[in-house]
Amino acid sequence: MILPTKIARGIRGLRFRLTISYFAIFAMLLVGVGLYFRDNLQVTLDGRMHEIVEEEWSAVRGFLRIENGTAVWYYDAKDVQESFFVERLRRIILIAGPDGRVLEASNGFRALGVDPPTAIQKEFQGETGIHGCTFKMDAKRDKALICAGIVQQANTKYYLALGRGLADNALIPGRFTWDYFSAVPVLLFLTGLAGWFIAGRALEPVNQVATTAQRISGANLSVRIPSRDSGDELDNLIQTFNQMMDRLKFNFDQMRQFSTDASHELRTPVTAIRGQLEVALFTATTIEQYRDAIVNALQDVEQLSNIIRALLLLSQAETGQLVLQRVPLELHEIIQDIADQFQIPAQEAGITLAVQIEDQAVVSADRLQMTRLITNLLSNAIKYTQPGGYALASLRYSKDRHSVEFAITDTGQGIAAENLPYIFERFYKVPGNTNPEKGLGLGLSFVAWIVKAHDGRIDVSSALGKGSTFTVHLPAAQMPQRPIPANSLKAEQVR
Ligand code: ADP
Repeated sequence: MILPTKIARGIRGLRFRLTISYFAIFAMLLVGVGLYFRDNLQVTLDGRMHEIVEEEWSAVRGFLRIENGTAVWYYDAKDVQESFFVERLRRIILIAGPDGRVLEASNGFRALGVDPPTAIQKEFQGETGIHGCTFKMDAKRDKALICAGIVQQANTKYYLALGRGLADNALIPGRFTWDYFSAVPVLLFLTGLAGWFIAGRALEPVNQVATTAQRISGANLSVRIPSRDSGDELDNLIQTFNQMMDRLKFNFDQMRQFSTDASHELRTPVTAIRGQLEVALFTATTIEQYRDAIVNALQDVEQLSNIIRALLLLSQAETGQLVLQRVPLELHEIIQDIADQFQIPAQEAGITLAVQIEDQAVVSADRLQMTRLITNLLSNAIKYTQPGGYALASLRYSKDRHSVEFAITDTGQGIAAENLPYIFERFYKVPGNTNPEKGLGLGLSFVAWIVKAHDGRIDVSSALGKGSTFTVHLPAAQMPQRPIPANSLKAEQVR
C-alpha cells in the first residue's frame, strides 16, 4: 500500500509535473521543427527539380531533328558523357507532330499516360517554348515532373514533353525523417532526465522548508532555514517562512509567559486561603479565631476572583470576543465624572486631584471601555503617588484638531527608563514600586488594548522619583466646539 501512495504523491508532485512539462514542450518543439525542415527540404528539392527539367527541355533541341516526320537524335555515341546525357533525356519523353501524332514516346512516359492527340494539337496554337510543368503519377504511384511545350526548329515545329522521376527526390526527405525522428525519443529521454534533475535542484529549498516545518513543535520554535542569499523567489520564501517562525515564537513565548504568570498569580491567593483554613482547622479554638480566618480567606477569594475576571476579560479582548459599541462620547463629561468619584480615595491618600478641560472633546468610543481606561490610569496615578502629591487629568484637542489628547500626570514614584518598555505587558509590575493595594499588573495591558481598539496611541513619559504622564491620543469624532473659558478650569485642593 505504501508504494502506490508514494507513487501517487510523486505523480502529483511539482517535480514530476515540471519534468512532464519540459518533456511535453520539448517533444512538441522537436516534432514541429522536424516537420518544418522536412517540408522545407521537399520544397527546395522540388524547386531544384523544376529548374533541371526546364534546362533539359531546352537542351533537347541541340540533339534532335525532325526529318520526314521522324525524330532523329544526333550525338557522339563515342562520347560517354554525351550519350549518357541523351539517354537520360530520353528516359521520360514524348515528341509529337502538329497533327498530334506521336513521333517518339519512351516507356517511362507511356507508363505515365500519353497525352491525347487533340490535346497535343491544341498546344500548337500557343507560342513556342515551355507551356507549363505538371506532376504525373504512374500505376505504381511513382511521381514524375513533366514540362511540356512547343519547339521551333527552322521551319519545323514539334511538341516536346520531358520529365524526371521524383522517386529520388522523395528519398532524401524520407531519409531525413527517419534519421531525425529516430533521434527524437533519445533526445526526449535525455531532456526528461535533465528536466528531472533541474526541477529537483530548483525545488530543493522548498523541500528544505517542508522538512524544517515538519520538525517544528511547540518546544522547537527556534529552527530557521539558512538563507542562500541568492535573492530569488525561493530565498523570499525562506525569508517569509523564517519571519513567520519569528512571529510564531514571539506569540508562543508570550502565551507561555502568560500561563506561567497566570498560574503564579492564582497560586498566591490559593496558597494563602489554604494556609488560613489549615491554621483555623488545627489551631483556632474560639469563634473569633474562626471568624478571623474566614474573613481573611474571603479577602483572598475576592483577590482570586478579581484575577480570574481580569484574565477572562483580557483574553476576550485579545481574541476579539469583546465587541466595541462605539458611539459619540463627550469625553470631558466622562473624565469629570470619574475624577469626581476618585476625589474621596484621593483625599484619603492625601493627594490633590485636579481636572483641566481645555476643549470639550467628542470621540467615537465604547463608553464602558473608555470608563475602564480612565479609571485604570487615574487609579494608578493615585496608587503610585505619595501623600502630599498631585495628580492631574487634562483634556484638549491636538494642534491640528484631528485628535484628542487625554493626559494623566502625577508627581508620584515614576518609572525608571529601563522598565518603561514593559509596563503594558501582562502581569508586569515595576520592581521596587510600592503601592498599598496589591496590583495585578493587568491594568495597563487593558489600557493598551482599549487604546489600540479605538485606533489610538498612548505615550508615557516618566522620571524616577518625580512622576509620570500617560497621554492617550484618540481620533476626534467631530470638529471641535468653541474652547471653554479658562476660568471654568476645575482644580480641587483636597488637603
Ligand atoms: P498594577 O495593577 O500593578 O497597577 P498596571 O498594569 O496598572 O498594574 O501597571 C503596571 C506597573 O506599572 C505597575 O505595577 C507599576 O509598577 C507601574 N505603574 C503604572 N502606573 C504608574 C504610575 N502612574 N506611576 C508609577 N508607576 C506606575
